[in-house]
Amino acid sequence: MARVVVTGGAGFLGSHLCDRLIERGDDVVCIDNLVTGTLDNIAHLRDTPGFEFVRHDVSDYVDVDGDVDAVLHFASPASPIDYLEMPIQTLKVGSLGTHNTLGLAKAKDATFFIASTSEVYGDPHEHPQKETYWGNVNPVGPRGVYDEAKRFAEAITMAYHRTHGLDTRIVRIFNTYGPRMRPNDGRVVSNFIVQALRGDNLTIYGDGSQSRSFCYVDDEIRGLIALLDSGEHDPVNIGNPNEFTVAELAEIVVDVVNSASEVEYHPLPVDDPTQRRPDISRAKELLGWEPRVELREGIERTAEYFAGVLARVAPA
Ligand code: UDP
Repeated sequence: MARVVVTGGAGFLGSHLCDRLIERGDDVVCIDNLVTGTLDNIAHLRDTPGFEFVRHDVSDYVDVDGDVDAVLHFASPASPIDYLEMPIQTLKVGSLGTHNTLGLAKAKDATFFIASTSEVYGDPHEHPQKETYWGNVNPVGPRGVYDEAKRFAEAITMAYHRTHGLDTRIVRIFNTYGPRMRPNDGRVVSNFIVQALRGDNLTIYGDGSQSRSFCYVDDEIRGLIALLDSGEHDPVNIGNPNEFTVAELAEIVVDVVNSASEVEYHPLPVDDPTQRRPDISRAKELLGWEPRVELREGIERTAEYFAGVLARVAPA
């Protein structure tokens, strides 16, 4: 049993992490400024013994009373529409927020775990992406605010590891989807499912030939916990290597939801990566981890969740 601080704990991944940690008997201090996270995601945990919520922006100094065994830094806008709307906050939480949470981990002699991203690979020239690939990121493009903040976060995490001997973990998370994404999150899986459920056209950006590899949230969280429990300091990709084009995803969603929706085409956002797929050899070898949930099954579960959300927002 441990006491774990989760920043961004009211967000999509953060709240699932809180659930899993509480389930296994850990105490959790969930910190979130509720900019993109929501109390709805942790409402079921509010009265659980061992769970504590603190509303705070970790880009400012972070103070936690008592012993802490691990600090998991998951706070950040993570959807392109969010970080384009909040570029400076995104840079701050990835840089200052990482520095503050590293400081907390160091002061408490705790393990530090940073949520990094496949975006550190940018628009990759190596495919699939191994952890040894250094990436192709445009620092001054609109996505640079997220990508470079996360690259800085990885760099300062390794610096704390090397300089202070801090016990650290770096995970590179690839596109993850599932319950508790916001219906207006802006990411492709949530957009398509919500559009299909409403009978609206699915909005394909570009010609739909760009690819992504989508990991169901339960698989992702299992990988994150396995990495936390390992002693691995170098970056590890956690994602599902099954790659789909955006056009293929649209077809699957329409089929699963049994929707009459059609597709419509919109301009491709600037610097939108053309392909993305994790090489998960390291995760398999080091953690014995691999994803189990196929895309169709994950889409079914997620569509069920969104159907419930939409029914509450606009009852039929
Ligand atoms: N996308 C799309 N329609 C949408 C939302 C996204 O075609 O309604 C595309 C987007 O341009 C990108 C891919 O889907 O090529 C994945 O986008 P997302 O925002 O989910 O994540 P990213 O991997 O780009 O961070």
